[in-house]
Amino acid sequence: MKIFPIPAFSDNYIWAMHDESSCVVVDPGDAEVVLAFLQQHNLTLAAILITHHHHDHTGGIQVLSEHYPDIHVFGPSNAKIKGITQALEHNDVVYINELKIEFIVSEIPGHTLDHIMYYTKGLVFCGDTLFSAGCGRMFEGSPTQMRASLKKISDLPEETMIYCTHEYTQANVQFALHVEPNNQYLQRYESWVQRQRGNGIPTIPTSLSEQLQLNPFLRLHEPDIKAFAEQYANNKLTDSVQVFAALRKAKDEF
Ligand code: ZN
Ligand code: FE
Repeated sequence: MKIFPIPAFSDNYIWAMHDESSCVVVDPGDAEVVLAFLQQHNLTLAAILITHHHHDHTGGIQVLSEHYPDIHVFGPSNAKIKGITQALEHNDVVYINELKIEFIVSEIPGHTLDHIMYYTKGLVFCGDTLFSAGCGRMFEGSPTQMRASLKKISDLPEETMIYCTHEYTQANVQFALHVEPNNQYLQRYESWVQRQRGNGIPTIPTSLSEQLQLNPFLRLHEPDIKAFAEQYANNKLTDSVQVFAALRKAKDEF
């Protein structure tokens, strides 16, 4: 099984999971790049997985479904998303027969209210919720929801690989260093990220264990991070949701 990031728009990745003949794509915002990939590698589309309703994740559903009318399109139960054939709920299991792979679905509201993730041993497709060194903006959910959703991801086994859908790593690292300038792990990661991006190579996937060392949104109990959030909020913060909310606001304004 291989997983390839098909670049789309300016910074999206459409993840293509495939063997020699069948392919599943996650969040195909653009059909053309997916069709080109399938043709180039001589693959048949077996299914589509959708994490949330935003257009940069769903815009290709219609054209792909016209090319492959029999496929299942899995996604959140949200009437806003046209073309979902299998609406999912928390704890549903998605089985992809062609690839013999099974995903467990979890609701992770915050970026949007309909946001879900797909977990299978070793990896998670988490859409716009957790990014490398950062997290998604809260367009629809509350800090309480977003914090709980990030916690759900960080409670997965540490060796889990995080397949998020945007290459935001460079900007996120700048903010993370602003929050935690003395984090040596983060400093080393910054040099690696510069090299990767300088060579046009994705920084995704990333491991959960790595994120636990460098992602401020997963490190709310670190004294330096709490101190940063309290200084930003100009207030004593008593729980991790408050620290998270201040940190997310600071990132929005960074
Ligand atoms: Zn989004
Ligand atoms: Fe997005």
